[in-house]
Amino acid sequence: MAQRIFVLDTTLRDGEQTPGVSLTPEKKLDIARALDELGVDVIEAGSAITSEGERKGIKLIANEGLDAEVLSFARLLKQDIDLALDCDVDGIFLVAPTSDLHIKYKLSSTREKVLKSVEELVGYCRQHGLTVDLCCEDGSRTSPEFLERVLKVAEKAKADRFTLADTVGALTPGRMSDLMKPLAKKAKIPLGVHCHDDLGMATANTVAAVRSGARTVDVTVNGLGERAGNASLEEVVMALKTVYGYQLNVKTERLFKLSDLVERITGIPVPPNKAIVGENAFTHEAGIHVDGILKKPGTYELLKPESVGARRRFVLGKHVGMKSVKKMLEELDFKVNESQLTEVFNQVKYIGDKGKRVTNVDLEAIANQVLGIEQERHIKLEELVTTAGNKFTPTASVKMRINGSEVVESSTGTGPVDAAINAIRKATRDVPFELLEYHVDAISGGSDAVVKIMVKLKSKDKIITSQGTGTDIVLASVDAMVNGLNSIMARMKK
Ligand code: MN
Repeated sequence: MAQRIFVLDTTLRDGEQTPGVSLTPEKKLDIARALDELGVDVIEAGSAITSEGERKGIKLIANEGLDAEVLSFARLLKQDIDLALDCDVDGIFLVAPTSDLHIKYKLSSTREKVLKSVEELVGYCRQHGLTVDLCCEDGSRTSPEFLERVLKVAEKAKADRFTLADTVGALTPGRMSDLMKPLAKKAKIPLGVHCHDDLGMATANTVAAVRSGARTVDVTVNGLGERAGNASLEEVVMALKTVYGYQLNVKTERLFKLSDLVERITGIPVPPNKAIVGENAFTHEAGIHVDGILKKPGTYELLKPESVGARRRFVLGKHVGMKSVKKMLEELDFKVNESQLTEVFNQVKYIGDKGKRVTNVDLEAIANQVLGIEQERHIKLEELVTTAGNKFTPTASVKMRINGSEVVESSTGTGPVDAAINAIRKATRDVPFELLEYHVDAISGGSDAVVKIMVKLKSKDKIITSQGTGTDIVLASVDAMVNGLNSIMARMKK
């Protein structure tokens, strides 16, 4: 039977320490619920000492009846623990600085005093019925002898777990093993590991720690965290599970959704090339790859997209192959012969060569033209007026021509773009669609930049991507929407 590994998620504590991120208590609860549904074993919900709002969030999470154990961060101070107790948490992530650097310069203290505090405060937590994860801050730059002394003191005081933190991301997998293995030999309580990504090795170091005896991994969704971030939950989980076959409680098919939720709530975008949860993690453009994948997905995919709740995507660009174009045309219900396919393929390559991405609305336009199909514009925008400013509720009104008849609608929104899209939704209420994604890219630098808007719409089981460009973000957004809706309506007519 493979070893069971426990996941401690610290998105709500270390992750929230990402520069620019601050979450309301309600948003923290939303993320905690999603983490619990995913199946993490422990949630570090925040640091009770931080603020009134933080305590409110921790308390909400602690009283939500989650399966996960809920912890608060605390320093080696009674007041931190007392405030955590007020929040009804199950336990404390008790952080003891252990490197000489931290003890001398940060605490102006001594090793002996730190050991005494560990003994006292672990005991204090236990007296109050709290579980304790004793974490050695800057543990990776602490002498192995002292680490062992801290471990023994923590064990004697009845800590539940002993965690080694690579607080500044200083380790490599080899160095991690050198530190962890002797500790694992001596330890009578389970070991945990907490890694940062300053050298881009947080995931590798976390996996190395597990291979050397750690049983609990501290991670954050999307690798959020201070500076370069923490070890990422999705990477660590998938590596442990698929490479080594460890047992985890995580429902991996929920990873993509959770990443998305955290991205939206924190406002920290996931890079497209991010492992596991990036937009491109399961996207293929190059012809050779697409051909291989259509024959057998394993040729160019390590993981099955559905195993993490993602979808495989083929995109069109200059590296595209004939087979992808053929497959995408079939998905769009076009029947083409050999020479028409070649013509469409050549045009896609031509656009791709200019550095442009080819959406499926573009592909449709090319195919219609090659097949000599008159493209009917079912929806046309005739007028658009928006108002926005600090004294107005953003409002938009649109005059549209839909299948020949004039429709006028208006709506409010969180900003002018949202208001305009809401007005279009109202005007096209008979067209079934869902807006799945909305992306803005500024193509050039200044405030007069050309923006490119990409929208992804879903209608019944079809996904349509379309784009709009221009210097006016509202107009470009509306264009993208109208282009996509035209494609949906054309399909309804078929
Ligand atoms: Mn940390």
